[in-house]
Amino acid sequence: MIELDGSHGEGGGQILRTALALSMCTGQALRIANIRAKRAKPGLMRQHLACVKAAGQVSAAAVTGAELGSQSLVFTPGAVKAGDYDFAVGSAGSCTLVLQTVLPPLMLADAPSTLRLSGGTHNPMAPPFHFLARSFAPFVRRCGAGLDLKLQRLGFYPAGGGVIEALVSPAAEGLQPFDLTERGALREAFAESLAPALPRSVALRELQAVGQALGWSGDQLRAPGVRQDEGPGNALMATLAYEHVTEVVTSFGEKGISAEQVAAQLAREVKAHEQSNGAAGVHLADQLALPLALAVAASGRPARYSITEMTEHTRTNFGVIARFLPVSFDVRPAERHLVVELNRRG
Ligand code: ATP
Repeated sequence: MIELDGSHGEGGGQILRTALALSMCTGQALRIANIRAKRAKPGLMRQHLACVKAAGQVSAAAVTGAELGSQSLVFTPGAVKAGDYDFAVGSAGSCTLVLQTVLPPLMLADAPSTLRLSGGTHNPMAPPFHFLARSFAPFVRRCGAGLDLKLQRLGFYPAGGGVIEALVSPAAEGLQPFDLTERGALREAFAESLAPALPRSVALRELQAVGQALGWSGDQLRAPGVRQDEGPGNALMATLAYEHVTEVVTSFGEKGISAEQVAAQLAREVKAHEQSNGAAGVHLADQLALPLALAVAASGRPARYSITEMTEHTRTNFGVIARFLPVSFDVRPAERHLVVELNRRG
């Protein structure tokens, strides 16, 4: 039984999701206390409960403490079962965080799985669909597994109703580690404003302000067609497609925040990303750790990747992963980035 203190480090929901994923991958039971102790409303919220339930379904787990507000949980996984799953988070809870929880064990299963995930597809504090599809999924494929993602319908807070379909295929030869040390040349950079059920002027003002701040113009500023019943909601995204990695930076609109403020926030984050030359940005840095650690543990071969900065979130994730897998994370500073090296211990 692995015992975790959820108040450790970042003290948020990521500790729970990473722990559930690795409990299923390794077959080790998990006891976690002080769940999300450092959040304003600690314990399991609807979105976290959806992750626990999805994990329970995928691995036929015995679970105690799976209730709204619960601050402790015991999760004893059975065998992971590939299959067709339908996970509804309810309301606009993030459905991409449910995917983040069940994807690792399904990447190790003995057959492909299809997932239908419904809820929020573009939520603050969760990977937006476009980030997963453009930035994260290519690295799952580089490990040798398959991940095809389709956005059927956008879902924003508070209405929700978004739908993502995912096809996950396990790696035929086992997961393979890789190195990602450089971005490579910038091949394409563009901004997109998704603003269903909002006046078209919102998207146009955001794009104009981003264009001014970043010196982008013409085809670099896009307002893709969206269905009006997919909103209301607003996500402004910048995609930076480098030779070896694609970064998707997202800024969210909300009531009381002007289109220009949403654009200024996006431009600040894009500029911050450009100040560094690390391959993985803040979010990819913590999300690559789990699949890479599984690949290093399985193959015994090391992996290395460069990151723009070391956040508390990433450090905490490394710590949780190292509790389940015989993998060490060494981080050293380099010129305008940091290098993370993963090695199998023992
Ligand atoms: P909570 O305790 O409320 O559940 P948390 O602190 O565990 O939250 P976050 O730090 O907000 O969770 O992050 C959740 C996950 O979503 C992380 O894997 C993070 O990398 C990812 N994430 C958050 N924002 C973005 C974004 N804009 N783009 C891509 N990924 C993101």
